[in-house]
Amino acid sequence: MLNTKKHWADICVIGGGIGGMFTAISAARHGAKVVLMHDRPVLGGNASSEIRMWISGAGTRVRDLQETGIMEELLLENMYRNPTRNFTTWDALLYEKVRFEENIELLLNCTCCEAKTENNHIESIKGFQLTTYTWHEVNAKIFVDSSGDSILAPLTGAEFKVGREAKSELNEEFGLEVADSHTMGMSIMMQCRETDHPVTYTPPAWAYDFPDDQAMHNKPHNLYAINTNFYWIELGGMQNSIDDTEEIKDELLKIAFGVWDHIKNHGDHGAENWDLEWVGFLPGKRESRRYMGDYVLTQHDVENCTPFSDVVAYGGWQIDNHLPGGFRMDAKGGAHLQKRRLSEPYLIPLRSLYSKNIDNLMFAGRNISASHIAFSSTRVMGTIGVIGQAVGTAAAIATKYDLLPRYAAQTKIEEIQAALLEDDCFLPGLRREISPLAKKAKLTCDYGDCTNLINGLDRRIWGNDNGYFGKTNKSITYTFDQPQFVNGVRLVMDSDLDREYTEGNPDGLHTSAVLFFPASHNNTRFGFPKCLIKRYRIEILDENGQWDTALEITNNHQRFVKHALNKIAKAVRFTPLSTYHSETKTEDYGSSTAHLFNFELF
Ligand SMILES: Cc1cc2nc3c(=O)[nH]c(=O)nc-3n(C[C@H](O)[C@H](O)[C@H](O)COP(=O)(O)OP(=O)(O)OC[C@H]3O[C@@H](n4cnc5c(N)ncnc54)[C@H](O)[C@@H]3O)c2cc1C
Repeated sequence: MLNTKKHWADICVIGGGIGGMFTAISAARHGAKVVLMHDRPVLGGNASSEIRMWISGAGTRVRDLQETGIMEELLLENMYRNPTRNFTTWDALLYEKVRFEENIELLLNCTCCEAKTENNHIESIKGFQLTTYTWHEVNAKIFVDSSGDSILAPLTGAEFKVGREAKSELNEEFGLEVADSHTMGMSIMMQCRETDHPVTYTPPAWAYDFPDDQAMHNKPHNLYAINTNFYWIELGGMQNSIDDTEEIKDELLKIAFGVWDHIKNHGDHGAENWDLEWVGFLPGKRESRRYMGDYVLTQHDVENCTPFSDVVAYGGWQIDNHLPGGFRMDAKGGAHLQKRRLSEPYLIPLRSLYSKNIDNLMFAGRNISASHIAFSSTRVMGTIGVIGQAVGTAAAIATKYDLLPRYAAQTKIEEIQAALLEDDCFLPGLRREISPLAKKAKLTCDYGDCTNLINGLDRRIWGNDNGYFGKTNKSITYTFDQPQFVNGVRLVMDSDLDREYTEGNPDGLHTSAVLFFPASHNNTRFGFPKCLIKRYRIEILDENGQWDTALEITNNHQRFVKHALNKIAKAVRFTPLSTYHSETKTEDYGSSTAHLFNFELF
C-alpha cells in the first residue's frame, strides 16, 4: 500500500510551465494558499532546460509591447544573473521564484491523474509523485489547469476541443472548408556550439539518412547564416498528440540525429568546427486539447482587437499556424507555415479563461478557450505568462470573496483589472488609478516636468513616452499639507522594453534560450538595460521638518519595485543617484538621465 498525503489550498494549479508558474506566483502574492503540482523535476515547461524554447510574445514583434509584470521581473533577473544564459542558472531561477514564494506548496515530479468531481464541481485531484512513491490529494476551491494537455478535461468532463475549425463554425478566414482533428506537431530541439577546431560526427545507425536538401524537405539549416532554430523538426500533427507522444518522439529522435548528420556530413553547411552539444529527449508539444470557456477567442478577435470589457491579458504575436505535415512538408517559401502579422495588440477576456461547464475550473496556458487559429497567436509564452498572471490574480480575488470564477468575472472584474495594473501588467486601453494618498499631495521635481509620473500609463506606447526624464541627484518630491501615514512607495523604472538601449549582444535580450553558440559569442555577455536606474534614495520629511533617509538602494535591477515605508511624513522624495566611476570615467547601467514612469506613494 502506498502513502497518500492530503493538502488543502485555496487554489490548486496543475502544470508548472510558464502558464502555471505565473498563475501560482500571482495567486500566492495576492494572499491565496496555492499548491502547484508539476510532473517534471524542473519548472518552465517548454522554456525549461528539458525543452529549451525561448519566450516570445507581443513585444517580440512590436517592441513597446513587451510583457511586464512577472514576465519582465523574470527576464530582468535572468539578464542580470545569467549573462551567459546558462540553462542550469535559468532552471534554478525558475525554481527559486516558485519554491521560495510564500504561500506556494510545490509538488515536483508529481503527475495529476485523478479527479473527484460532483455536480460539475471539482472536489479534489490526485497526483502520483514518482520520487517518493506517494499519492498527493489536493482539495481546493479553484483548480487551474496549466498542464498544456488539459489533463482535467478527461478527468472531470470539462468541455474541450481538439483540431481545426471549419470556416462556417466561427466565420474565420483561415478556417477550413471541413473541420478536422489535426493539430500542430511536436518538436525536439537541439543545441550546438562552434569550437576552434574541426569536429567529426558519426550518427547512430538508427538515425535517418538525409543525403541532400530535398530529403530534408528544404528546411533551413545553414550555419553560415543562422536564421532558424530547429522548430521544423516537427511531427505528429496528423496523429493523436497525446496518445501517440512516445511514438512521435521516437521518430523525432531519428530525424534530429539525421539532421545533424546531414549538416555535418552531407554538403558544406559551415559546420566543420561545430559540435552537437545537446538534443532534447522530451519533445516540446505545441497543441492538444483546448478548453471551452464562456467565450471562444477567434481569428476575428485577434486581427480586429475586439474591445472586451473583461480584458485581463493581451497578445500580439503573429498568427503562426504550423501546418500538420510538419517536417514531412516542403518548406520552400515557408509552405509548411501559415503566418500573418498583426498590426495592434489584441485583448484576451476573462471569459476565455474559465470553464463553460465545470464551475471551479480555470486554465492558463496553450489550452485556453480559443479557436485553432486564435491559439496560433496566443500560444507563445510571453502571452501565456500574462494570461497566467491574470488567472492567478482573478482566482485569488475570487477565493477571497468565496466566489466561483464566473461570478468573480461578472462582479469583481474592475478589482481584478486594477490589481493587474497595480502589479505592472499592461491592459491596452486601461489606465491605472492613482492612489488616494498620492492625490492628496503636491508633486514637484528639481528638474524637468514630472506630471507623466501620475498619468496611469507605465510604458512608452502609441507614440507617447509617458515617462519622466530626470537627472541623477535631482529629486522628485510629494509634499502634504498635513503629515500623513505613508505605507510605501511604488516605482516603475525604464527597463528598455524595446531593448534598443541594452548593452551587450542584442540576440539574447528577449529570451532565455540560445540554441546556436557561434564562436563569436564566446566572449559576449548578454546585455542589461542601460537606462534602468541602479541607485536611488528615498527620504522622508518628518513632523519636525527633518529629512531622513528611509532607504538607499545601490543595486536595483528591476523595473517595478514596491518598498514599504510605514512612516508619518510631511513629504517624501525620490532621488536617482549616479553610478559614475571617476577613475575609469564609466557608468554602470543607470545613466545620468534618469527615466522612470511612476513614483507614487500609497
Ligand atoms: C518546438 C516548439 C517551439 C516553440 N517556439 C516558441 C517560441 O519560439 N516562443 C514561444 O514563446 N513559444 C514557443 N512555442 C510555444 C510554447 O512553448 C507553448 O505554447 C507553451 O510552452 C505552452 O505553455 P504552457 O504553460 O501552456 O505549457 P507547457 O510549457 O507545456 O507546460 C505545461 C507543463 O505541465 C506539465 N504537465 C503536463 N501534464 C501534467 C500533469 N498531468 N500533472 C502535472 N504536470 C503536468 C508538463 O510537464 C509541462 O511542463 C513553441 C512550442 C514548441 C513545441
